[in-house]
Amino acid sequence: MICPGCGSAGVRAVPEICADHASIRDGLADRLAQSPGAPSGFDRCLHFVEGMVMAGMGVALAYSGLDNHKPLYTIGGSLLAVLLFVGTIVVVRGEGRERAVVEAGESRTDALWRSAYYCCGCASVFCPGGTPWQGLLTPEQFKKFMWTEAGHGKQLEEQFKDVDLPPGILTGPGGTQDHA
Ligand SMILES: [Zn+2]
Repeated sequence: MICPGCGSAGVRAVPEICADHASIRDGLADRLAQSPGAPSGFDRCLHFVEGMVMAGMGVALAYSGLDNHKPLYTIGGSLLAVLLFVGTIVVVRGEGRERAVVEAGESRTDALWRSAYYCCGCASVFCPGGTPWQGLLTPEQFKKFMWTEAGHGKQLEEQFKDVDLPPGILTGPGGTQDHA
């Protein structure tokens, strides 16, 4: 495969780059990321266990207050346990919603993202044959394209405000331009 921009043969599939440790280290994977990262099921499970362990410490404090006749420990420990328990549920549920939004967005952009190639010679992103989208994009344009398409446009960092997509490329759910 040859880059349509500079004719270089140094092209790699975007999903392959994003899975490559060297690209993750040098930041290229992040520049071509399909969507904002979201906590995995494992992270959420871990956060739940951490929260419950800390709530358990509050319960232990409350019990030690009962045993040692220190009502302040009992009240403080109980409050701490309740706060940590409720807080953990709120955080873990929020992470679940975040994950669901990212997964829904990824399913919308999957075909676009998987057909993209990156040229190491001129640092541009393209689809062989011009489908499903045409032309050369910079990694910044590509990321804005993917994120806007998936509905995460608002989460793009400040530096993407000035990145304009070529006219004609579809953006936003339903293919509407997010700005004129
Ligand atoms: Zn090139």
